[in-house]
Amino acid sequence: MKIKDILAQEKPVLSFEVFPPKKEDAYASVEHAVNEIAKLNPSFMSVTYGAGGGTSRYTVDITSHLLHQYGVTAMAHLSCVSSTREHVRNMVERIRENGIENILALRGDIPADGKIEHDYRYACELIRDLKELGDFCIGGACYPEGHPESPNKAEDIRHLKEKVDAGCDFLTTQMFFDNNIFYNFLYRAREKGITVPIVAGIMPMTNAKQLKRTLALSGTYLPTRFKMLLDKFGDNPAAMKQAGIAYATEQIIDLVANDVHAIHIYTMNRPEVAAQIKSSLSEIIV
Ligand code: FAD
Repeated sequence: MKIKDILAQEKPVLSFEVFPPKKEDAYASVEHAVNEIAKLNPSFMSVTYGAGGGTSRYTVDITSHLLHQYGVTAMAHLSCVSSTREHVRNMVERIRENGIENILALRGDIPADGKIEHDYRYACELIRDLKELGDFCIGGACYPEGHPESPNKAEDIRHLKEKVDAGCDFLTTQMFFDNNIFYNFLYRAREKGITVPIVAGIMPMTNAKQLKRTLALSGTYLPTRFKMLLDKFGDNPAAMKQAGIAYATEQIIDLVANDVHAIHIYTMNRPEVAAQIKSSLSEIIV
């Protein structure tokens, strides 16, 4: 099923993101985690893509597994900046052969050594290619706080509009910890004529070390309320996990109360985190 059709139903949507193994010897444990998450019966699942090596190879395998073994609507992520056009075509062929209808089309991060291929510069170029290569439902990424490379939010939204016009059926946001940032972004996007569904990406921050690493990479704003949790529970992993899950759940409840019906959870391959959030929302997202 195409994700755009799920989003069009105007029913609450709760989806989960997982990541594939980097190396073959981790495949079985990742598959186990992914299976447990699939059993939670999400609206759809998405599988991330690394710029090369195992992560890119296994994205299609895991997406196909979800689709065919669990009957879950599944989406393969695909990035382009470190790939040649030929490599992208080969990946798309594998995606099609596996019956996968949904692709999250990404530029990908510029590697630390700055080495990229020069066939693609931006995600919108990949989206234009995908439109020619098949009848896919195409998602794109968006950034409520602005993409870190953008000089300002106005320019970022202008490029986002170009990306949607290139053929995005929906957008999924980068994580945010302050819902007001999301509401403000939604207002600006709608004002600029971006009308596709926007799925709110929520990261349950259950581990202080992971939080610091993620924040350093993304530059995401951390509200005082969250900083206080981190100060109080950061050295106590069990308490931090409980607090992180509760914080994410509260964010989601507030989103739903404000008529945001599509939520995507960055599960970090942790079934127990996904399960706790889902069960806390059992009467809210049904
Ligand atoms: P783009 O939309 O191309 O934007 C990148 C930058 O270029 C922005 O600053 C934008 O404003 C600017 N820009 C866009 N078009 C133009 C133009 N025409 N002229 C000038 N500037 C322009 N990365 C992975 O490697 N694998 C994943 O699986 C993955 N999954 C993700 C899932 C989500 C939901 C999100 C939010 C991000 C994900 N990422 C993933 C990270 C993403 O690849 C990076 O954030 C990357 O830096 C930008 O990708 P993009 O597709 O948003 O790029």
